[in-house]
Amino acid sequence: MGGQIMQVTGIGVGRGIAVGPVLRMPEPLPEPEDVTSEFEPLVELERASAALTATTTDLNVLGARAGGDAKDVLEAQALMAQDPAVLEDIEERISGGKTAERAVFEAFRSYQYVLESMGGYMAGRGADLKDVSQRVVARLKGVALPGIPVSDTPFVLVAGDLSPADTALLDLDKVLALVTRDGGPTSHTAILARAKGIVAVVGAIGADELGDGETVIVDASTGSVVVNPSEQAIADVEERRAKHAEVAPLTPGALADGTPVSLLANLGSPDEAAAAVELGAEGVGLFRTEFLFLGSEEAPGVDEQREQYLALLGAFPGKKVVVRVLDAGADKPLAFLPEAHEENPALGRRGIRALRDAEPVLRDQLQALAEAAARSDADLWVMAPMVADVGETEYFVSLAREFGLKTVGITAEVPAAAVLADQIAERTDFVSVGTNDLTQYTMAADRLLGTVASYQDPWHPAVLRMIKSIGDAGAAAGKTVGICGEAAADPMLAVVLVGLGATDLSMTAAALADVRAELLRHTFAQARELAALAINATSGADARSVVSAAAAAAVSSPH
Ligand code: PEP
Ligand code: MG
Repeated sequence: MGGQIMQVTGIGVGRGIAVGPVLRMPEPLPEPEDVTSEFEPLVELERASAALTATTTDLNVLGARAGGDAKDVLEAQALMAQDPAVLEDIEERISGGKTAERAVFEAFRSYQYVLESMGGYMAGRGADLKDVSQRVVARLKGVALPGIPVSDTPFVLVAGDLSPADTALLDLDKVLALVTRDGGPTSHTAILARAKGIVAVVGAIGADELGDGETVIVDASTGSVVVNPSEQAIADVEERRAKHAEVAPLTPGALADGTPVSLLANLGSPDEAAAAVELGAEGVGLFRTEFLFLGSEEAPGVDEQREQYLALLGAFPGKKVVVRVLDAGADKPLAFLPEAHEENPALGRRGIRALRDAEPVLRDQLQALAEAAARSDADLWVMAPMVADVGETEYFVSLAREFGLKTVGITAEVPAAAVLADQIAERTDFVSVGTNDLTQYTMAADRLLGTVASYQDPWHPAVLRMIKSIGDAGAAAGKTVGICGEAAADPMLAVVLVGLGATDLSMTAAALADVRAELLRHTFAQARELAALAINATSGADARSVVSAAAAAAVSSPH
């Protein structure tokens, strides 16, 4: 590019900024040729079997080394490499004269297609299968796996997309930032990047043009990647990074005028609690219980659940902990719920709909929660996912009260609930806005589909008006309104959400410090002004830019 300044834009994850040289992820292995094998099927079968076993071992070893979420992801992939149905398929293809490479490629690809056609969470597992297939084929060919490049010096990783395993295993000492061509703000890559605090721009149109060794500035707050920046621009980045590192006081969340805003963590396992407390979580705004049971074949029993909830509540004595009952289905299917296969599961019997069909499962969960609450000092709040109207609200609230649960609410993430928020708020103790699904359904854009990532924008005024309806209803009824989707983790948007009526913000713990710092820069009156600007914008991009400009002007002349 000969020193020419060029810019690539996408969707920023978080607010960080980084500068460094590009290192590209190698392209995937080419499709193995479809030629008749020169060897006996038995020989090919042995090769395939050895490569599959070695890949299983590799994945398990990598998982043990990585720990945490990465371990689960990698162990699930290791199981895929030993799936009996896939093995049988490979065997059949080899008996028909294919090479081991081709048979492995075709067998995994056919299962990948099946999963992708299911959409949502299963489509994500299809991408995992592709990754496993690449690993096995690389083994068979004796070539290096097209994985994260290795370098002695830090770099900005540029890729088409990253598999969950790649993202989970990133060496944070080496990877300064991440730029991917695919993926939206709620994609697996974005969620893991946010949880790990990696500066990232996803869905970056033009990412394919970035060449190895080119210096780039990756600015997540604007979603931009500047190629060949000036010396001055690089110096400005260093200054911003230094300032960024300074703000970390662990004061309770509040605006500049002292208006309190609880800053809570989103968790999926009690194991994450200690780290969240360390990062300043004042409690839990969303505990996703389905993550405890993703691997279970049957509905978990009361005793098993109670122990998990006690472990969680034990980490937050005297603090608020909002637990969401199982949100099974769509992107989070469980083996035992929902029962029937659906063509379009995001619009199917998920969340409270599935639980109502399987009321004994819901009753066991409420029982376990009530028992845990009785034995703990934490302040347990319980809510139901995907509630659409008064009927579902009343059903859940009365059932939860039967078990003696004190504080009962619902997740507002279906547009119907936002439109009817006044009716709902009167009948619950609190409402928590799930902005991931609320955005998906308001904009009619699958939250996992990279091609519609631009619609998956919680800054869109259509989404913000939905949230305002919920905020207004909460204020009129005197009820807490929390935000528990990814939107709360965007510091500037967090201020707007407070202006729209949010009283609590819950997010991945890594984002708490940035949000805390941004809230402290604005009064409640200013937050309301920014919110008014945002809902009157004509697009998500317009809302972002008018709010950033007005916020910068207000901060530089506060009176
Ligand atoms: C949401 O939809 O915003 C939410 C918080 O729930 P989940 O991401 O688990 O669907
Ligand atoms: Mg949701």
